[in-house]
Amino acid sequence: MSDAELPRLTVIGTGYLGATHAICMASLGYDVVGLDVDPGKIRKLQSGEVPFFEPGLPELLAKTLESGRLRFTTSYAEAAEHGDVHFICVGTPQQPGLDACDLSYVDAAVRGLAPHLTRRCLVVGKSTVPVGTAARLSGLLTELAPAGAEVELAWNPEFLREGFAVDDTLRPDRLVFGVTTEWARERLAAAFAPILDLGTPTVVTDLPTAELVKVAANSFLATKISYINAMAEICEATGADVRDLAQALAYDDRIGGRFLQPGLGFGGGCLPKDIRAFAYRAEEIGVGQAVSFLREVDAINRRRRSRTIDLVRELLGGQLNGQRVACLGAAFKPNSDDIRDAPALDVARTMHGLGANVRVYDPAALDNARRTYPELRYGTSAMDVARDADVVVLLTEWAEFREIQPEALSEVVAHRRIVDGRHALDRDAWRAAGWEYRALGRP
Ligand code: NAD
Repeated sequence: MSDAELPRLTVIGTGYLGATHAICMASLGYDVVGLDVDPGKIRKLQSGEVPFFEPGLPELLAKTLESGRLRFTTSYAEAAEHGDVHFICVGTPQQPGLDACDLSYVDAAVRGLAPHLTRRCLVVGKSTVPVGTAARLSGLLTELAPAGAEVELAWNPEFLREGFAVDDTLRPDRLVFGVTTEWARERLAAAFAPILDLGTPTVVTDLPTAELVKVAANSFLATKISYINAMAEICEATGADVRDLAQALAYDDRIGGRFLQPGLGFGGGCLPKDIRAFAYRAEEIGVGQAVSFLREVDAINRRRRSRTIDLVRELLGGQLNGQRVACLGAAFKPNSDDIRDAPALDVARTMHGLGANVRVYDPAALDNARRTYPELRYGTSAMDVARDADVVVLLTEWAEFREIQPEALSEVVAHRRIVDGRHALDRDAWRAAGWEYRALGRP
């Protein structure tokens, strides 16, 4: 397909997902306009700054801006004028105080775009939504688009992982196209032509199935993590070792070792809210029992956070109040600056609330953490926060924390005590260096 035949793309919502999508698609040769309601974010992107931490993305943004194939705007009229295919990538967070998904941003995106659509085009939802949303939005789109605009809606759920977002976008495991017409399928195929050319497996299906694939996948991953963490609870009560248990399970390739690492559990802007919204939506449509286990998956996950604090307290002889605690990690996972529902910060804040003198360091998420939780104290390196600490707690498994030598840390702490919330350290090496080492589910 020649460049002239490539559809022109717009991406609505330029956060973690949308900015990555816009930049990667432009790098593949598409003409892309990214739109956001946040003018600060648009200014940054347009000037070549990625407003979040994502390896490889700043270099790709610089290249695509220079190529002239990517620009950013806050104007829906401009986006509508440009696009043959419009991707909706806005947030779908949890509603405050409820497990339900907040669809107000997705609705606002459709309401913002639809009245400006004047020619035949495809609107493609990528945001993660409760099943049934696409059918409703399709009605809304038809209602709000000017007569004769011939607008269709499709769903193309996104599976990228923060920290690997560029590679996941350019070389995804699979593409899912939820469509209602052959024309929509063809348009989507044109919008992903270079990726399909790689031989990427593609599932073409209806709208509800496409919506469900995403929440089913996240539910499976969350369940696998909570499964091994439930085993960690049993190990704690029996003196067994969950690391050895997980390793032995992983050799069975029907089970596999990925997402089978015990520890502090999952967080972030996706898994927790997606499983809650899925359980809520299933109850709403009368099939709550089918996924009621997701409530337990969530409960197991939350218990890991309180159990980590118990371990810290035990190491300190039963008292957190007044103790100096060095927290290594704030992001919900390594290679990200995302602190949405971050287990690390949840643990740090709870210990702070219990009177501990908490100091936090993270290689990428400090600015976000400082802005959101100014009540916590922060340091400039692992060594800095560990100085004079009564206990060190590893909460996010950044590579630089895995590489810390126990002998080096011994030089600065007040007491050699460490809780390894992510099973990231070599227990024997730390104990040999004179440290009291504790980890969830291990003797
Ligand atoms: P985000 O909060 O980083 O980005 C959302 C963006 O949408 C923000 O920049 C916001 O300003 C913008 N926005 C809100 N309302 C808008 C409107 N009416 N018009 C235009 N822009 C608007 O969120 P995210 O992490 O990028 O997630 C977006 C969606 O993608 C969610 O549904 C999420 O579940 C899904 N998803 C995220 C990831 C991920 O790793 N972050 C992976 C797969 C799927």
